[in-house]
Amino acid sequence: MKIIQITERLGTQRHIAAVRQGVLLNVPVIVIGAFAVMLNQVSIPWYQQVTQLFFGSAWEVFWQAVATAAREGISILLVLSISYFLALSHKKTSGKVHPLTAAFVAFVCLLVWIQPFTKAGIQGLPFEATGVGGIFFAVFTALLATEFFLWLTTVNRLGSRRLFADVADPILSQALACILPAAATILLFALLKDTMVLAHWHGIDMNLYRSFVDLFQQIQSPVVQLTLFYLVVHLLWFLGLHGNNIMEPVLESLQLDQMQSVFVLEASQSAGALTKTFLDVFGLIGGSGSTFSLLLALFVISRRGNMAWLARLSTIPAIFNINELLLFGLPVVLNPVLLIPFLVVPIVLTCMAYLAISHGMVAAVIQPVHWTTPPLISGYLATGSWTGAGLQLIGIAIGTLIYLPFVSLHEAQKNREMTSGLRQLTDEVAAAPALFRNHFLSRQDEAGTLARLLAHDLKHTLARNELFLEYQPQVDQHNRVVGIEALLRWSHPTYGRIPPILMIAVAEEAGLINAIGKWVLDTACRQLRDWKYSGLDGIRMAVNVSAIQLQSRTFVEELLAILHQNELENGELEIEITENIALNNDARTICNLDAMRRHGIRVAIDDFGMGHTSLRYIKHFPVDRLKIDGILSRDVIHDENCQKIIASIVALCSTLGIETVVEYVETEEQRNLLLELGCRQYQGYLYSPPLPAAEMVRYLLEQNKPQRKVVNRKQEHFGH
Ligand code: C2E
Ligand code: MG
Ligand code: MG
Repeated sequence: MKIIQITERLGTQRHIAAVRQGVLLNVPVIVIGAFAVMLNQVSIPWYQQVTQLFFGSAWEVFWQAVATAAREGISILLVLSISYFLALSHKKTSGKVHPLTAAFVAFVCLLVWIQPFTKAGIQGLPFEATGVGGIFFAVFTALLATEFFLWLTTVNRLGSRRLFADVADPILSQALACILPAAATILLFALLKDTMVLAHWHGIDMNLYRSFVDLFQQIQSPVVQLTLFYLVVHLLWFLGLHGNNIMEPVLESLQLDQMQSVFVLEASQSAGALTKTFLDVFGLIGGSGSTFSLLLALFVISRRGNMAWLARLSTIPAIFNINELLLFGLPVVLNPVLLIPFLVVPIVLTCMAYLAISHGMVAAVIQPVHWTTPPLISGYLATGSWTGAGLQLIGIAIGTLIYLPFVSLHEAQKNREMTSGLRQLTDEVAAAPALFRNHFLSRQDEAGTLARLLAHDLKHTLARNELFLEYQPQVDQHNRVVGIEALLRWSHPTYGRIPPILMIAVAEEAGLINAIGKWVLDTACRQLRDWKYSGLDGIRMAVNVSAIQLQSRTFVEELLAILHQNELENGELEIEITENIALNNDARTICNLDAMRRHGIRVAIDDFGMGHTSLRYIKHFPVDRLKIDGILSRDVIHDENCQKIIASIVALCSTLGIETVVEYVETEEQRNLLLELGCRQYQGYLYSPPLPAAEMVRYLLEQNKPQRKVVNRKQEHFGH
């Protein structure tokens, strides 16, 4: 539990978060780079022959160009993106300093550091510093330069904005205010560089790196060397850094000095089998963390939802041991639950393969295989024997078994987070006034991500039959059902029931409400027709509509068409609109409300008493019914004010000829008091919660006395 808390804290730490987000932003470039390397170097003979035959050397030139472009510029991209996110998270300067300015300053600082110094002038930038080899230094520069620059902008004299307040364009104003801090940061880096050149520490960035590489070279035992190497790679991944890319120069140096000589082995030299090929082929099947097994575990556990989608997306890259999508997407990054198998599986698989080879059960590695060669093929090619492929197969199975419980735990944890996120978002939606519920999709926080995810899934709900309606009775003082309210439900395949209020807010913002609203009207009316056909007469169906639906030109037309198609009288439908909609004095809304009334479609005001209650609009929009909200009826027993308000609403409505119904009636006591106050119609759990259609029929048959007659009629109906 403690580890989880620590990693959670680490994950939200500004610098670590900026590095992670900066790397994530570059995932498309990293993946295309890895693919280009793979397509260029697949070590399958027939592949090479076919590409040579059809494309000649053009194939290599093409993919080499892509691979070089994507890989050798990655440090520059990282310095920009990491600095951008770091500036974005800086509270003091947010809104004052454009994060891109900070990114540009950090980029210039990196250039200051890495440009080679020669008397003849600058000779272009070295790939060893701009590419994968320079990542570590780029991260360091991004953090240092950005923090220093942002700090300078907060120093009053340097970042004074008063001077530029009258500049017309705010971007120019921000840029002008950054001149001095930017200059000071860049000059500081230049000064450091100058000092180092004069002190003959030229190329400090590379030197630092080289000493790091040297550290590894000093270790004598190749076993310890490689174990340590992979431990560092995996820990870097855990921190959100691309472990393989950062450690690539280390690996290259190890290979050059020691590994290459043991790449090709005699079968008897099994102890020397710990080569890069051996590890790639048997220890890291699918890439760091043996992610091929992780992928299979994901397929077993997550059949639906985001994780399954991610697994599907990562399958083809994973076949070629490219696992960035999976590692960043899952994320293994800062996830202590997944870190355990991520570290353990490669070790277990390596030990198992080592034992199998050293006991002669499996042929030894006899030739190098490129790391992008797919599993099984790579096992065969490396050992020249099918026993190699067999060993890989067993390794994948064991790895999957180890990953399974952890993935399952991760899935449960994710679902819990999602559920609590949904709850929070629902509370936020409920707390926001109806007219201000349209700002969730553009938010950059977790709530925004969740809302976008729901909006994405909501688009497919109608086609996938995930939406359905439940029905809640409205009952009079003699327990007769006088109406039924249709309530929308969404059963999300992963998160279960989504509260309607949240779903409606997302649908409104995502522009889906007209389609969904029409489906609700259509389904409710069809249901009413079916009930009528089976003899359940005299029921009025109430359907909620949103403000946006009422602003549609074709709303009333569509409504009449639906009623006509289902052979319903116009008076059998009641449209529930919330108080806030009515207050929205938009011309189209008024026109639609008038048209509905003219056609005899009933209009009810929902949630009366919730918002900016104003009786004024009853004059503007003559309505048939007023639904007194739970906020008044819930506290009616203990709150005298509520009693007075309800009594006066009911009295006023009765003089205006408007029916009233009280919502959220949950107890007998509450109902009796409401009756005393003059309320004659009720809706709430005292009578019934919202029910699926079939249960609603049962309820109607049992509860509604006059319906008994109907039952007989129904029996007659079926009898004939
Ligand atoms: P609403 O129209 O005021 O619906 C009544 C809500 O109160 C329903 O919540 C119902 O389940 C709940 N309720 C009924 N009786 C009781 C009770 O005794 N105690 C308690 N605690 N709750 C009770 P639900 O289904 O979650 O719907 C929430 C809101 O979502 C609805 O409020 C309505 O504004 C909106 N909504 C539902 N379906 C639709 C729809 O098809 N279209 C639109 N635009 N909005 C809808
Ligand atoms: Mg309603
Ligand atoms: Mg209501």
